[in-house]
Amino acid sequence: MCGIVGYIGHRKATPILIDGLKRLEYRGYDSAGIALIEDEGLIHEKTAGKVDALVAHLADRTFTSHVGIAHTRWATHGEPSDLNAHPQVDNSGNIAVVHNGIIENYRALRQILEQQGYKILSDTDTEIIAHLIGFHYEDDLTEAVRASMSLVVGTYAIAVIDKRSPDVIVAARNGAPLLIACGENENFVASDAAAILSYTNKVTYLEDREIATVSINNFQISTIEKVKVDRQATELDWTLGAIEKAGHDYFMHKEIHEQPETLHNAMRGRLNFEEATVRLNGLTDHLDDLSRIKRVIITACGTSWHAALIGEYLLEEYAGLPVEVEYASEFRYRSPIIDDGTLVLVISQSGETADTLAAMREARRKGAKALGIVNSVGSTIARESDGGVYIHAGPEIGVASTKAFTSQIMVLSLITILLGRMRNISANMGSEMIAALESVPEKIQSILDREDEIKKIAELYYQSNNFLYLGRGVNFPVALEGALKLKEISYIHAEGYPAAEMKHGPIALIDEKMPVVVIATKDSIYDKVMSNISQVRARKGRVIAIATEGDTEIAQHVNHVFYIPAIKQCFTPLLSVIPLQLMAYHMAVLRDCNVDQPRNLAKSVTVE
Ligand code: GLU
Repeated sequence: MCGIVGYIGHRKATPILIDGLKRLEYRGYDSAGIALIEDEGLIHEKTAGKVDALVAHLADRTFTSHVGIAHTRWATHGEPSDLNAHPQVDNSGNIAVVHNGIIENYRALRQILEQQGYKILSDTDTEIIAHLIGFHYEDDLTEAVRASMSLVVGTYAIAVIDKRSPDVIVAARNGAPLLIACGENENFVASDAAAILSYTNKVTYLEDREIATVSINNFQISTIEKVKVDRQATELDWTLGAIEKAGHDYFMHKEIHEQPETLHNAMRGRLNFEEATVRLNGLTDHLDDLSRIKRVIITACGTSWHAALIGEYLLEEYAGLPVEVEYASEFRYRSPIIDDGTLVLVISQSGETADTLAAMREARRKGAKALGIVNSVGSTIARESDGGVYIHAGPEIGVASTKAFTSQIMVLSLITILLGRMRNISANMGSEMIAALESVPEKIQSILDREDEIKKIAELYYQSNNFLYLGRGVNFPVALEGALKLKEISYIHAEGYPAAEMKHGPIALIDEKMPVVVIATKDSIYDKVMSNISQVRARKGRVIAIATEGDTEIAQHVNHVFYIPAIKQCFTPLLSVIPLQLMAYHMAVLRDCNVDQPRNLAKSVTVE
């Protein structure tokens, strides 16, 4: 989710707001905008594209306002466009709102507002907030925001201005970061300290369900329930660089650590406990077709292709559908057999991957229904597909994908539950799967808390030239992904293999210098994996095992073990990949590599 800056003070607001937006650019975004209270009233200007496009758009205007809010948007509802960019304004043109996050009940609220005669102009969930505040406003902006946000379900950090209350900015947060920063005769609101650090380092963080009323010389915080909050300001001693990465050395590390939150976001508002199924808005128009499909093809590239392989295991086992997974670059030039019972799922973080896009176009040309699993809202795949599900992982800056991968698996798991419940799985099984998915964020956090154990293993092996990664069943694609992460960022040669295939070739490579990472979780094929481990050990290979907590046996048979919490077998990839991401990361750091921008790689591969 993207950036917010607000300013109220003795200086002109516009240059400070633009400067703040530029300092938030590192987060990735797709559009930018600004709202100011000028003498003639509320002004709001916004453009799709970069902050420079906004600056160019404002070039021949002069503004004198001392109060304003600004935003960089990373679209979740509605494509990136001038209209969907923030600030969003209410019908009276008095109120402007910027928002980070997702309003889950915006459809219901939209309906109610439309019945009341409100004209909703954009596709965003955010616009609803502006109208709600307009609806509740009597003479106090804070109270109107309080009444409005008590109706809203979801995550938000918002900043609001109203031309009838030009002396305040009202801010509120639930689940998305927001802070107030204090200077001399000026105060700021920001989603990220990077935006304001060149003006002041005195900040007060808002907590969930809190509202702040910010004026030139002071601010008050209260809860949504109107309980007053007293909070000491903190003095930041971070450098700008450290703030951008939230204290992490690299974006990749930050993104690995964001996974409890991003996975939560991928599930948010989508679990239907009563009916033991899931609700995916982007698929609601296709439910009839989905109940009739006979076969699934999943096509993708790179890390997304690994997620697709995991999807294959899930869909076959729980939806009882035959699934084929195909590299998009191959699929596009084959003559795939597609009929009207075939569903094509297309996975791409950026939604712009050239091969995947071409594969999707080819599938649609042949009459398939194509659904996208995409991170970037409004991207080409999102626009051209028949429907789809956003993974809501937020901008991913590190070139090597981490949080997008786990969110792709999460969305594939949700689609599996949806298709499975239309077919063979019982309500009990549906509930069991939902409960297992809900436990994932906490379990990942418990793995991240033991990062030091992985770092120690990385210190022992970072000088190796080759690695082998082995896994079976649903963890075979995780072995592929672990090897890919290591190759991408540390330039160590690594191969992923189905554990049992090792004896048909790679076993020739094993000697005392070869580290072999084995995913050996306690599941139905545990004993088979243990036999594969013995084959490696018999040839003096060094084994690093990813095992299940409570497995007291494995440590005697391997050189190192990292334990992960137990979870329903089909969802282990969501946990087992985390130590592999961390291991690749630490080895790359120890080898002094440019972790976020590895050589020869690009984040969004828009060439064939
Ligand atoms: N959900 C909002 C939108 O799509 C806000 C996105 C953001 O966090 O930038 O407009």
